[in-house]
Amino acid sequence: MITDILKSAYHPSEVLAMVRIKFGNISLSDNKEPLENIACHTSDRDFCYASLNKVSRSFAIVIQQLPEELKDPVCVFYLVLRGLDSVEDDMDYPAGLRLPLLRSFHEKLFDKDWRIENVGDSHDYRVLLANFDKVIRAYQALDEDYRLVIADICQKMGNGMADYAERKVVTLHDYNDYCYYVAGLVGIGLSSLFSASGLESARLKDEAELANSMGLLLQKTNISRDYYEDLNLGRTFWPKQIWGKYTDRLDELQKNPSSPESLACINELVTDALTHVGNCILYLNMIRDKQVFKFCAIPQVMAMATLAKIYNNPDVFTEVVKIRKGIAAKLMLKTNDMDSVRKSMEKFVAEIRKKLNTEDPNYTQTKKRLNRIIEALDDVKYNPNILLEGTIEQTVLF
Ligand code: MG
Repeated sequence: MITDILKSAYHPSEVLAMVRIKFGNISLSDNKEPLENIACHTSDRDFCYASLNKVSRSFAIVIQQLPEELKDPVCVFYLVLRGLDSVEDDMDYPAGLRLPLLRSFHEKLFDKDWRIENVGDSHDYRVLLANFDKVIRAYQALDEDYRLVIADICQKMGNGMADYAERKVVTLHDYNDYCYYVAGLVGIGLSSLFSASGLESARLKDEAELANSMGLLLQKTNISRDYYEDLNLGRTFWPKQIWGKYTDRLDELQKNPSSPESLACINELVTDALTHVGNCILYLNMIRDKQVFKFCAIPQVMAMATLAKIYNNPDVFTEVVKIRKGIAAKLMLKTNDMDSVRKSMEKFVAEIRKKLNTEDPNYTQTKKRLNRIIEALDDVKYNPNILLEGTIEQTVLF
């Protein structure tokens, strides 16, 4: 934490936010005990929360903010999908075994003793999969409505992952399609869990396009940011339809990160990701429960902060660019309602606008997408029931 405080030394409000998160009710602290040891002495449910802490601390933090009713279903949903994702990412596990497992992973949820050794793309994921019977039993303890959603999404995602294991992301259509499988489905599944809990409108689960956008914005932001990290891992998710306009070989962009081609390339990826922000605003506007709202909104404003940071930023090609932890802590604390989302979004839109350059081939497109975000913010400000029950009644009446 000390190094993070030093990075925020000239931003006192960030230091304060980090301290409040560290010592407030949201804990960023890490349990140092290895997961394999924890597995020996905890209940199935406690193992789930301990694994969540190990495999994604940021998600573990936001999940703590959910209403009690939704914590277990969302925790189990997340772990089932992370288990699946880790099978997808384990390139040492032969495709002849990996692809059938991806396609049949949802069936394992019916076998309370199923676990698999030595599969997973990192140590903690291997431990998770080696103790997956615990996750499955926690799944089986959930209400049926939740179980149906989780199994359905797991089946669709596993099949999509298996399809893409055999072909590359080349066109923009592939890019949207792949992101739908690995992230859009998460948004759609979460909406269904929220509706099933009764805390959110039953109509939320039907807004699949909006929920898909929630996942796509996060996924495309990560993919755009992770150029350097992914290239070092010998992979990429950048669609050739975009990067092929600027170079013949993706790794060439690294050699001249400040060239107009490199910058135009990252800018086009950011511009593409910005397409989804309008729908995310409409989605957030539908959420009624304050805690669910925070859970949904925090990752979205963080994604916008990241997009503003990586736009026209040559560092993307030579290092892992991340927003300062202090900024993340501040966003976590202050994102409480649509007004705070509006303020953050307007700030990040302004940051990108400041970096716009008329020489950039996507200048007009980027500008349009930014304007569309402001329009969406205005739409929900002046017509807050834009997608809520009220609109339906009106349609019936007139
Ligand atoms: Mg994966």
